[in-house]
Amino acid sequence: MNRYFFDHVISFYIFDLMNGLQHGHAPSRCCGCGTYFLTTNGHMPKYCDGIAPQDPRMTCRQYGAMMRQKEQNKQHPVYRLFTTRTNTIRKHHQRGKISDELRNEALYVAESLRDKALMDNDYAASGYAHDMEQEAIYAQARARLAREDGS
Ligand SMILES: [Zn+2]
Repeated sequence: MNRYFFDHVISFYIFDLMNGLQHGHAPSRCCGCGTYFLTTNGHMPKYCDGIAPQDPRMTCRQYGAMMRQKEQNKQHPVYRLFTTRTNTIRKHHQRGKISDELRNEALYVAESLRDKALMDNDYAASGYAHDMEQEAIYAQARARLAREDGS
């Protein structure tokens, strides 16, 4: 077994790096946290496996995958319409135009329609845009609230 002594902690990191390079590892910089880490041959991940500084519940790799998915989702027409509507609902709520209850129900309705459209291409292509009209969402949300009051 080889034993090495280092007079400075930096020497250890340099040794570790050189040792890694010898074994076909290359240093790579994590796009999430900015730390350098060693990668194996032919494999250049953009993220390390450390805890993501943006969200300690996941690793940089998981966080990166989630952000990539979110970016793709934003481009999706179903999501675009959903984002537009929910932004308007929040704006209406901020201005006091709608109540807390109606805001919550409207957001719930919009989310349900979005999920339905994501799973059903026919619905996404035909009924979705109509159901997602601002007044249609509020009408559905009011109907849900009325039903809750009646029970
Ligand atoms: Zn990282």
